[in-house]
Amino acid sequence: MQQNLKVYNSLSGSKEKFQPLNPPYVGMYVCGPTVYSDVHLGNLRSFLSFDIIYRYLMHLGYKVRYVRNITDVGHLENDADEGEDKIAKKAKLENLEPMEIVHRYTQGFHQVTRVFNMQEPSIEPSASGHIIEQIALVSKILEAGLAYEINGSVYFDVLKYNEQAHYGALSGRVLDDLISGTRDLDGQDEKRSPLDFALWKKAAPSHIMRWPSPWSDGFPGWHLECSTMSTKYLGKKFDIHGGGIDLKFPHHECEIAQCVAGYGESPAKYWMHANMLTINGQKMSKSLGNSILPRQLFSGDHQLLDRPYSPMTVRFFMLQTHYRSTLDISNEALTAAAKGYKKLANGLRILKRLQYQENGQTAIDEKINQQIGQFCDNCYHAMNDDFNTAKTIAHLFNILKKINSIHTGSLDISQLSPETFDRMKSVFLDFVENVLGLEEERPGQLDPLLDIVLSSYKEAKSLQDYQKVDDIRDQLKKQGIVLKDMKTGVDWAYEE
Ligand code: ZN
Repeated sequence: MQQNLKVYNSLSGSKEKFQPLNPPYVGMYVCGPTVYSDVHLGNLRSFLSFDIIYRYLMHLGYKVRYVRNITDVGHLENDADEGEDKIAKKAKLENLEPMEIVHRYTQGFHQVTRVFNMQEPSIEPSASGHIIEQIALVSKILEAGLAYEINGSVYFDVLKYNEQAHYGALSGRVLDDLISGTRDLDGQDEKRSPLDFALWKKAAPSHIMRWPSPWSDGFPGWHLECSTMSTKYLGKKFDIHGGGIDLKFPHHECEIAQCVAGYGESPAKYWMHANMLTINGQKMSKSLGNSILPRQLFSGDHQLLDRPYSPMTVRFFMLQTHYRSTLDISNEALTAAAKGYKKLANGLRILKRLQYQENGQTAIDEKINQQIGQFCDNCYHAMNDDFNTAKTIAHLFNILKKINSIHTGSLDISQLSPETFDRMKSVFLDFVENVLGLEEERPGQLDPLLDIVLSSYKEAKSLQDYQKVDDIRDQLKKQGIVLKDMKTGVDWAYEE
């Protein structure tokens, strides 16, 4: 199956056959969070997209080294290399050490990723731990003559770089348009061109986060850490570089320029970008007041939310849209996702208990076997088509229908061949739990506890104590569990 995977490469603007540089090893670098505030839902979607890519590559048998950084060096307020250090600003505001801010929000980020059942990266390097390497890269770019020092700061010379390489290779931006689109340099600006970006900034006296360097006591520019840490852990040329679509320009474009200038090599073979999250059709942003934090989703404590939604509901909701499409969040869509997720969770429960048995009388139905085989193949086809989780979920629901038919008795399990049953079981469980990372949210101890309740229910029924029967049903319903009277006895399910 490995040879069938196609991925969309932002660098070429098309889907390409996935061919790692050194199979079965795959190097993947994803731009991680900036840890001076809570991770917002849009960022989370981006990390979730790469969690899926990581999981599926491993499912296909690749050995993936997944590096995701922590941006803990206080970068400036905007891309123009001006303004206040964001981490230091927060530290001043809350009367804390900058590293206390960094620690608090790194912990918070890890907690959120765990709640969402995301896999941990193989390495999670922090920018502040790689200042020496960043200084070394600045020196290399200076040696190559593609940067200049002025008043203790070092800037990348975009125009000079573009004479020998292509600035805009990833974003498709044209240098002339970029120049006419920028403001003129005012007398204060040290840069030769407004397009130049900082590799090293001399720190103002009030600036807290600072390190010594050959040029000044200062701090690295925003784009530098990713060039340094990706190549340190994955080599000068590696397979996948990912991030949110808002990072494509200038961040990723500048990363490429730095690597070409300093190492003579464009770093990644495939560039992948996850699209934005919108809310009720609007871009989510703090200034519009419509930005939602993960914990507000779980508590329902937000003016735009009707009720709380569970982490697995949100995960399922996000996976219903392909990572390259924008995803709109709304109460209606989340409510529908809650139902869908519970259907899938019920399917997991049922399938795990289902045992294959031949009854010796029913003939194997070739058509049904073929159909189920096709549904299983389709799951792979969808994921191989640039990780299309939306289509994969649709195919899983086709399998789910068969599972439910077996469960309710409308499809005889012995119409399936043992091989078909085994494949159906392994594909469904593997895709739901390992590839999509969706798991049952109820604790595992629930089954034996419910068995006790179920036996009281059965007893009440046999004694025709309908008051008690109704009571038990009502109580369970309050907990989101429904009882089902089936031919084979009584069963329970998550209320969909
Ligand atoms: Zn980055």
